[in-house]
Amino acid sequence: MKVTVFGIGYVGLVQAAVLAEVGHDVICIDIDENKVENLKKGIIPIFEPGLTPLVMQNYEEGRLKFSTDAKEGVDHGVMQFIAVGTPPDEDGSADLKYVTTVARTIAEHMQTHKVVIDKSTVPVGTADCVRAVMTETLKTRQADIAFDVVSNPEFLKEGAAVTDCMRPERIVVGTDNAQVVDMLRELYEPFNRNHDRMILMDIRSAELTKYAANCMLATKISFMNEISNLAELLGADIEKVRQGIGSDSRIGYSFIYPGCGYGGSCFPKDVQALIRTAEKIGYTPRILQAVEAVNDEQKLKLPAYIKHHFGEDLKGKTFALWGLAFKPNTDDMREASSRVLMETLWQAGAQVQAFDPEAMDEAQRIYGNRHDLKLMGTKEAALQGADALVICTEWKNFRAPDFESVKNALKEPVIFDGRNLYDPERIIKRGFVYYAIGRGASV
Ligand code: NAD
Repeated sequence: MKVTVFGIGYVGLVQAAVLAEVGHDVICIDIDENKVENLKKGIIPIFEPGLTPLVMQNYEEGRLKFSTDAKEGVDHGVMQFIAVGTPPDEDGSADLKYVTTVARTIAEHMQTHKVVIDKSTVPVGTADCVRAVMTETLKTRQADIAFDVVSNPEFLKEGAAVTDCMRPERIVVGTDNAQVVDMLRELYEPFNRNHDRMILMDIRSAELTKYAANCMLATKISFMNEISNLAELLGADIEKVRQGIGSDSRIGYSFIYPGCGYGGSCFPKDVQALIRTAEKIGYTPRILQAVEAVNDEQKLKLPAYIKHHFGEDLKGKTFALWGLAFKPNTDDMREASSRVLMETLWQAGAQVQAFDPEAMDEAQRIYGNRHDLKLMGTKEAALQGADALVICTEWKNFRAPDFESVKNALKEPVIFDGRNLYDPERIIKRGFVYYAIGRGASV
């Protein structure tokens, strides 16, 4: 099938590559000329496991094309995916300007029936808004061309995006048109063989499903962080509590890790956007407000431990930081807890020597040539001469370091672990002072 994808970000690029891989004929349109030119040269703008070979092979074999020419994109596919960003605007609501721009662009160029499929995360009612923008634009053109608007939210996880798109747990489709359902069934058939993963619903429910999913996951994290704060004050160990509750099949082990706060491009913005949606209709979303507040405080946990240990004034201190990305297997630093940590340390006069397996270029892009940030080539180099080690991301190669070398490289054997990577007893026996999250009984 011929498919057009507007927006070559984490969602658009991965979805396009995966659709091309199963044989669809896909063109990706982006307004970022640099990105498009780089992709044509095989330079992939993001790090996602398995993505580079998938993009390169499908591009070389002609099933995946890249362009900045919106008309070419609109002419190409009956299916027109919108996968552009929906960042928070000043009050935290989802900013729909990129979505409505694409809707207008499609309506400006379309000559035949199009199915406009919204993959971006958008508030309930956005499909109506897309429909209104397109109707208005077609009216201005005095063009009478039919179109459909579908909500098909994306549930991929950064760091596992290719696998998630290849083997989706569910394909949520919100539409009021049975013919469109048939078209989407055909499009997604290659991903739907083992059992039917398609969940059909009305458009508004599909739009809300995406927010509900992300807010539920954010809630689990903030809930565990709240319990971890209690554990600390009560002299209990959150890691034992986590395993104790995870063993209950109604609760389960997934997504109940305490830590130094959630980040990324989705949870913070989607929790905030749903709060604003609720407030706009006169409903006070108490749980969501608490989820956000707990998370904001949790990001200040490591800086608070550091100041507790070294004092408020950190002038002359240097901290080794392991992990800049908001989670492992991505280079994404949007809303990462490492950023709150570094910015708080800098404000107190400290220097940071940071290492991340994938996010070094992104850190360079965000923080440029700050005199108080040194980006180091390895995790070992980051330690040299630092006063203490701080861990913000649970990358696999941080999990079993050579602790003797860590101790020798640091001025003081202190670790601030925002991801509870180590066994407190063992690490204390090795002579470290160990601060972790919610491990009152153990550290
Ligand atoms: P992104 O910022 O990585 O990419 C968006 C792309 O859209 C950019 O390349 C930008 O240049 C392009 N763009 C903007 N305006 C355009 C236009 N008029 N025409 C063509 N391209 C245009 O965004 P992302 O992380 O891929 O997220 C996209 C949407 O998907 C968001 O709504 C997000 O909430 C949602 N989502 C993201 C994830 C994730 O893990 N990143 C997961 C599920 C859903």
